[in-house]
Amino acid sequence: MRSELRWPSVAGLTFEGRTVVGTHAYGKHLFTRFDDERTLHTHLRMEGVWWVVPTGSPRAVGRGAFVRAVLGSDEWTAVGDRLGMLDVVPTGAEHTLIGHLGPDVLAADFPADGLAEALGRWADRGPTPVAEVLLDQTVTAGIGTIYAAESLFARRLWPWTPADRTDAATLLMTARTLMVRSVAAASPTATGETARGRTTQVHGRSGQPCRRCGSVIRVGQARRPPMQRPIFYCPGCQPQV
Ligand SMILES: [Zn+2]
Repeated sequence: MRSELRWPSVAGLTFEGRTVVGTHAYGKHLFTRFDDERTLHTHLRMEGVWWVVPTGSPRAVGRGAFVRAVLGSDEWTAVGDRLGMLDVVPTGAEHTLIGHLGPDVLAADFPADGLAEALGRWADRGPTPVAEVLLDQTVTAGIGTIYAAESLFARRLWPWTPADRTDAATLLMTARTLMVRSVAAASPTATGETARGRTTQVHGRSGQPCRRCGSVIRVGQARRPPMQRPIFYCPGCQPQV
């Protein structure tokens, strides 16, 4: 296998000659396991992506200032672009990287098992603003700024509503439903529509009219500095409580 890791802390490490046993995701953490009991751990952060392209095709070369990893077999090459984190750990130690995370909202067993645990963690946050709790990866893993905003819009919740005054189960399942639909779509979408400019109701639309009520969409800050993140909302559909 071709193996290039362009990340200072793992300089010199290689997976040449090894075989990928499988890759699994937990939130935005990806774990690629090799047959020598090592795991490549990568995190997508905001912009990261793994492209899988035929070996020999132009993109398989792995050119580009932001390409962080290239793994290739005779047939396929995976190119990790704009990855937010990259390290190599013993496969047996994977849990130490995600042990603090809440249940993965996209996991198949989330409705049956994960949700109950997430609700317990949610309750521990008390009156913390609901947007902040939705984004808290130790409550549920996998919800980012887009699906936090879009779920709150769907449930007509002001982003700073105290979390203990919201229907957490319905809200988390709404986030999951929107994300599952997006994963299944041809390209990411929070609305079910894939046309440019139609993929969100509120996220990235500050200053534009709400499609439901016509109010001007606004953007505020969820979480406190230095961890603040933009959160978009419609003041008409999501009135302050
Ligand atoms: Zn509205």
